[in-house]
Amino acid sequence: MQTIITTPPTAATVDPKSAASSVRHPCFNKESSGSCGRVHLPVAPRCNIQCNYCNRKYDCVNESRPGVTSGILKPYQALEYTRQVLEKEPRITVVGIAGPGDPMANPAETLETMLLIRREYPHLLFCLSSNGLAMPEYLDDLAELGVSHATVTLNTVDPAIGARIYSWVRDGNVVYRGQAAAELILERQMEAISGLKARGLAVKVNTIVIPGVNDAHIQAVAEKTSALGVDLMNLMPMFPTAGTPFGELKEPGKDVIEALRAEAGPLVPQMTHCRRCRADAVGLLCNDRSGELGGVLSACSKLVPKAQDDRPYVAVATREGLLVNLHLGEAKRFQIWGLAENGTFRLVEERQAPSAGCGPSRWEDLARLLSDCRAVLVSALGEAPRKILTERGTLPAACSGFIEDALALAYGEDGLARLEALKARRGGLGKSCCGTGDGC
Ligand code: SF4
Ligand code: SF4
Repeated sequence: MQTIITTPPTAATVDPKSAASSVRHPCFNKESSGSCGRVHLPVAPRCNIQCNYCNRKYDCVNESRPGVTSGILKPYQALEYTRQVLEKEPRITVVGIAGPGDPMANPAETLETMLLIRREYPHLLFCLSSNGLAMPEYLDDLAELGVSHATVTLNTVDPAIGARIYSWVRDGNVVYRGQAAAELILERQMEAISGLKARGLAVKVNTIVIPGVNDAHIQAVAEKTSALGVDLMNLMPMFPTAGTPFGELKEPGKDVIEALRAEAGPLVPQMTHCRRCRADAVGLLCNDRSGELGGVLSACSKLVPKAQDDRPYVAVATREGLLVNLHLGEAKRFQIWGLAENGTFRLVEERQAPSAGCGPSRWEDLARLLSDCRAVLVSALGEAPRKILTERGTLPAACSGFIEDALALAYGEDGLARLEALKARRGGLGKSCCGTGDGC
């Protein structure tokens, strides 16, 4: 059984990716819930399944439960919102994405948001909450982005019960129902949890206790989570939401949940302080400030990206002029692309790269060479040039695929970070997603 550490160290002393980082996570460590806060960034509106107890609301300021938010943010808006929230509530140690849909049903928005925030706030913990269906595909991305904590909602390990909980499950363009849907999501959840643990993340399982559906099955879920090495289990009483198939069921009482926790506790540590937070929750668990900071969220949701008219070009590292396929350090020259009047892209010129072997001054020279470029697209680059180029206003984006596709993203709204977030692993550019979300 895992030990939960109880003395929170300071942010400066702990690597956010280390196991010890859990001491600064108010959900994973009850002792820190009075001193460490979290902010949920509502950047994931869609879900890829439909649970029979879920009804998402995107503009509700009055309800407090998972799936509810008073606004949706784009990644660049989420970064600005984080900045403003941290100024007002410096006790925040965790940035989480918990909906209002499922983060991994919105992979571009989720990964891009994490990338933007990781660059500016490397000390913050990252946390994701998902139904697990689409998570296996992004396990390496999450680990690379430094996600330290994840929650998977696992309501059952029996597909016959799952068929009663999930109305449908969508995988790509195929919609599954009944037992087939339940089998698919269970298989993915197992893969997601094992993969997260294999990559060193702290994992919590949320199990929604649904009277007459899975309440006699909680021990089996606890046994499975224990076998998978899950760090924490959170038994959440189902909240009967009007207009859903389970809307008429009675919410399980405190005594029921406590008895179930007592039974499951010997197998896996139990969370006892969950607040069933909104998808835009912010502040300490015991002092949620989402109402008070709702105006900040609303203002950030209306922000437009800064124009980059002073940097009209995008530089590209390419072997043959068709694909982005050279490492920054390998490129002997860069193609410089701009927008044509008809909205397509035109090759403006080629520029000779500074010669190799001159240490940091090589990257300073490159930054000067590309001072009219908003971005440089490369297959990969090191941290030193990344830092120098970013500071000089040319955002390096590691990506792969056709130059024209990459340019379409680079010139699109907040597309540069997306280029990096969805790089080579899944065949390059242009992958998108669909779906709807998960409470925390
Ligand atoms: Fe933590 Fe529970 Fe709130 Fe999620 S819903 S942030 S687990 S307290
Ligand atoms: Fe289920 Fe969460 Fe999706 Fe709602 S948002 S349907 S609770 S996975």
